[in-house]
Amino acid sequence: MNHLKIIIIGAGIGGLTAGLALKRAGYTVEIYEKTREIRPAGAGISIWSNGVKVLNSLGLGDEIAKIGGQMDRMEYRSHTDELYNQINLHPVTETVGQRPYPVSRTELQSLLLNAFNNNIETVKLNTQFIGVEQDAQGITAYFANGDQTRGDLLIAADGIHSQLRDYVVGHPVELRYAGYVNWNGLIEINPNLGDKNTWVIYVGESKRASMMPIGNNRFYYFFGCPMARGIIVEPDHRQRELKQIFAQWPSPVQCLIETLNPQELNRLEIHDLDPLETIVKGRVVLLGDAAHASTPTLGQGGCQAMEDAEILSRFLLTTNLGVEYALKRYETERKERTSTLVIKARKRADIIYGKDPYLTQQWYQQLQQETEQDVTQALSKTILGGPFH
Ligand SMILES: Cc1cc2nc3c(=O)[nH]c(=O)nc-3n(C[C@H](O)[C@H](O)[C@H](O)COP(=O)(O)OP(=O)(O)OC[C@H]3O[C@@H](n4cnc5c(N)ncnc54)[C@H](O)[C@@H]3O)c2cc1C
Repeated sequence: MNHLKIIIIGAGIGGLTAGLALKRAGYTVEIYEKTREIRPAGAGISIWSNGVKVLNSLGLGDEIAKIGGQMDRMEYRSHTDELYNQINLHPVTETVGQRPYPVSRTELQSLLLNAFNNNIETVKLNTQFIGVEQDAQGITAYFANGDQTRGDLLIAADGIHSQLRDYVVGHPVELRYAGYVNWNGLIEINPNLGDKNTWVIYVGESKRASMMPIGNNRFYYFFGCPMARGIIVEPDHRQRELKQIFAQWPSPVQCLIETLNPQELNRLEIHDLDPLETIVKGRVVLLGDAAHASTPTLGQGGCQAMEDAEILSRFLLTTNLGVEYALKRYETERKERTSTLVIKARKRADIIYGKDPYLTQQWYQQLQQETEQDVTQALSKTILGGPFH
């Protein structure tokens, strides 16, 4: 189909990637974002090769490589510093044809935003979506400032707390607490923390602590620990909280906790979403976390939003039976892939964070037997399931 006007709600990873893909396809795109300034939640993000391939296809390959970390190896260690396994990640790159790039979220967001804004139109910031109406000819979106706009379809890329999800599904949908808290931030690399090209993951006591190299000589670090829901810890006390939870863990972890900047330490309870029965209602379609928010244990949430963008743009461009038909094709194509990954990530979270302590112990043992081939196969399978094999 040609000459469509597409309204996107949300300028996160999903909304911006979709905006870029749809503009490249020749459509008129308007993106509306409620915040005044786009400030991504969280410090870093790993864009696995399936996500990088989408960015490559949008002409952003050089730019993502510039901000990406060189993650050559991955290493599992116990909380008593026993080396469980050390995996060379080059075979994964060889198998799938593209390196992964862990990056700073702010830098990724700027990269996508600049790429979108460079193409004449700009994201309309400080414009909160409040409602939608649709008819046989198109959709009208309404905003809190009194503005309205009309288009052929509306993409709800409004994130995990999506306002449009209930509208699309037809009933209220609750998020599911995954049972653990995540802390994360960025820190300059120094040898006391670890090797600059290795992604290290310490696991034990149903918790984990990890550092992943991103561009500009920094680690993206994250911690995770099972915890009851609703415990509030003020920013000033979070470093102390980590010291208590990870007391006696190996010296790189202690060094990380000592030297991290407490002002830039994020803390969040992790939620996900049961797979939805539908992600399309007429001319309105969910994309990214709005459609399939996941626990971050596979590092695939943002990558899936990128894949969504690519597939949606393909169906709009290559089919000619109307907008609603193209959106249904997108739904069919994406539902199985994203549901499978959400459930896989959930199971992994349960194992990592000790939902059944026996299974967690078994997993620690499995890690010690895991070979490079096992890891290459597992990672490649997920990556090659995407739109660019
Ligand atoms: C701790 C953690 C670690 C993660 N690590 C990884 C990883 O390593 N790799 C990976 O691929 N994924 C990872 N993810 C998942 C990834 O962050 C998300 O999947 C991704 O950010 C989703 O992008 P999105 O565009 O769908 O939503 P968001 O990035 O949340 O963007 C939604 C946007 O919509 C805007 N918005 C909301 N409501 C309105 C409204 N009414 N009007 C206008 N605008 C609105 C919001 O302000 C926001 O800017 C992680 C997630 C977490 C929590």
